[in-house]
This record gives sequence, C-alpha cells and structure tokens, in this order.
Amino acid sequence: MNDKEVTKLIASEETRQREGLELIPSENYVSREVLSALGSVFTNKYSEGYPGKRYYGGQDFTDPLETLAIERAKKLFNADHANVQPHSGAPANIAVYFAWLEPGDTVLGMRLDHGGHLTHGHPVTTMAQLYNFVRYGIKDKETGEIDYEEMRRVALKEKPKIILAGFSGYPRNLDYAKFAEIGNEVGALLMADMAHIAGLIAGKALPNPFDFGFHVITTTTHKTLRGPRGGMILTKGKVGNPLKQVEKNLENLPTLIDREVFPGFQGGPHMNNTAAKAVTFYEAAQPEFQTYVQQILKNAKKLADEMMSRGFKLVTNGTDNHLIMADVQTSFGVDGRQVQDILDKIGLSANCNSIPDDPLPPFRPSGLRLGTPAITTRGLEEEHMAQIAEWLEQAIKNRSNDKILNKLSNEVKEFSLRFPLPSDS
Ligand SMILES: *Cc1c(COP(=O)(O)O)cnc(C)c1O
Repeated sequence: MNDKEVTKLIASEETRQREGLELIPSENYVSREVLSALGSVFTNKYSEGYPGKRYYGGQDFTDPLETLAIERAKKLFNADHANVQPHSGAPANIAVYFAWLEPGDTVLGMRLDHGGHLTHGHPVTTMAQLYNFVRYGIKDKETGEIDYEEMRRVALKEKPKIILAGFSGYPRNLDYAKFAEIGNEVGALLMADMAHIAGLIAGKALPNPFDFGFHVITTTTHKTLRGPRGGMILTKGKVGNPLKQVEKNLENLPTLIDREVFPGFQGGPHMNNTAAKAVTFYEAAQPEFQTYVQQILKNAKKLADEMMSRGFKLVTNGTDNHLIMADVQTSFGVDGRQVQDILDKIGLSANCNSIPDDPLPPFRPSGLRLGTPAITTRGLEEEHMAQIAEWLEQAIKNRSNDKILNKLSNEVKEFSLRFPLPSDS
C-alpha cells in the first residue's frame, strides 16, 4: 500500500485499541476471520436483489453466500426469515417502520432518557417527522422496573401500530410477556430491537423475544454479537416475492420488509459484509460463544459491585446485562463528559450518557455508560474488575493531577498489553 497517511492512521488505531481497554458497551473486537471476510474480494461485487433474483450476472458465489448467512441467522435466532442486507441498525429499523406504517402512524417506544435509542423516534431524526412516537418509561429508578401499567394506559389511548421493545442504555431485562399482552390487546405489531443484546440472546443468556410472540426483531451485527458493523431483520412466517406489491398484513410482513430494504431504499447489498455476517453467525453458534456471553454477564455484575463499593451510584443499583450506567455527577460532582475525557487520558474508553430524568443537558449529562463485551473478548475475568473500578475511581478523584493520571495511564497500558486483540492471534 502506498497511501502512507491512511496506513499510519490504521496502525495508530490498532495501537490505541491494543494499549487501552474498551469499556463502551456497544463496541467489541471481531475475530481475524471476520476481519478478513470484510477485507475480501466480495467487496468488488454488485448483487442487487436477493438470492436467485439478482439483476447482474456473476452471482455464482454471492447467492450461496447470502443463503448461508440467512440460514445461519435463522437457526441462531429461531426465525423463519432473515434479511441480512441492512447496512446497519438504523436502516434496519427504518425498513420496519416503512414496511408497516403509514405517515402519521403511532409507535410506542421507550423514553430516550430512560434508555431508548435515537432510532426510536428522537426528535432530531427524520423518522420523528414521519411518524408519531409516544413513550413508556421506568417506574422505579432504584430497581429500573418498567411502568407496564403506564405502557398499557398509553397503548389504549394512542393505539400504536408498533410497540417497540429495545434499548441502548438500560441495565435490566425486559418483560417481553407483558409487552406481548399489551401489544395483542391493542393489535400492535410487536417489534424488538435487540441491537445491544443480540449476542446475549444468541448465546442463550437472555430470552428470545420470538418465544413471547414478537413479530419482528431488528438488530445490529456488531456490539455483543461481535460481528461486522451491519444490520439484520428477523421475522416469523414465509417470504414471498419482494418485487411484488402486497397488502399490509401480518402474513406478508417478511415480504413487506424485504421490499423495503430492496428495492425500497437500499441499493446493492455489501457482499463483503454479508460474508463477515455469515462468519459471525457461525462463531456465535459455537459452544464457546455461550461461555463468552456468560462471562460478559459475570464481569458486568462484578464490575458493578466493585464500582458501588467505591462510591459510584449506579442507575438501578446494578445490572442484569452487559451494561452499567453510573451517575457520576451525583457520585463525584463531575459530569459524564468530563469523566469520559479524563478516562480517555488514561486509556479507558467509555461514553457519557443521560440518566433517567437527568437534570443536566444531553451533551453534558450526569451519566457514564460502561460495558463488558469488549474486555471479555480480550480475556478479562471477574478477578480483573476490581482493578478497573479502582482506575475509574482514581482517575476521577485525581483528575487535576497530571502526574497521577500519567501513572494510571502507564498501568492501564502495561495491563492491556497482557491481553492481545483477537486479530493478533
Ligand atoms: C446501536 C443501536 C442501533 C443503531 O445501530 P447503528 O448500526 O449505529 O445504525 C439501533 N438500535 C439500538 C437499540 C441500538 O443500540
């Protein structure tokens, strides 16, 4: 490669990843096989359409590749149909909205400051201009329990066409049975966006929304699933011809979704990404992956305990999944953005985040969001969590002492180098 500038940036990013610890709960380290599939010659190939229904020639190997990815995804998540073409999580959600809703229709989703995601109708998104998003939230900030009575009240009043279960900042589990009961009562489509927890579901550590009668699941393939950046949509029922206009009903849902992804608003799928997704689904189906996700949960519980014992106030006082939300403003009188910047200085990556009913604004919120998927991939176990909590506390308390921050930075680097990246091996 002659492009010295990009070569250097890639090398620097690799060093940053190797010498630091990734605590952002939506990030992970992919395997060498996933990386090499992403960098494979499939990136050269156009394949608009679906297996067996392509517009261009030369599909001898793209068709079996996409079929393989689809079959593996279906098996992994107990789905009848999978669309593996969405370029990421946001387009996957948009495809479902477009497939099922008419402009002005209502979607009932989680309050964004209680853990819901940007793509669930944040006012800055285009979807919020097209559709009417109404909200449920948590009832008890100490336990994090969702207010299902309020959800039912809002659902009966607003008659949503979709009830959406899913989050990017909620450390507890959802009661899918309650969602289903309310959704069925008002005749809403039950949609789960499992972007953050897909790996935990694939590894059988968390329940699968399909087991509770959900109609559609969207997800990213990165995050806990540990694959390439990408999206996927899973449905129950059979798919028809996506090039034919069909009536909006449940039986046609898989076809409506395929139609929306292509030709609706995407062009050709990224076949190198499809290859990497297929590898990801293969890896996630191995018994080792179940051990991996169990360890994510053990590490998160242990890290939460170690943080609480050092004075961190955690939203919902703990975690049931891979993520931890700390109210650093209340705990230490420093906002989340400042803490994020301090941690960057010592090689720990985390992100600031709003907490429920946050008195501070979103760009400088009270919370710090952490997670264990990436460090668990790196090989860290419960015994290492006290050390991480200690670094977090020390960095915050000594934030104006460059000498101490420098010492912590060296410690983090030395520690991190003991745990190679999966792509190193
Ligand atoms: C990350 C995430 C998305 C969006 O995924 P992108 O790949 O960033 O578009 C959607 N929904 C939820 C719940 C997420 O956590």
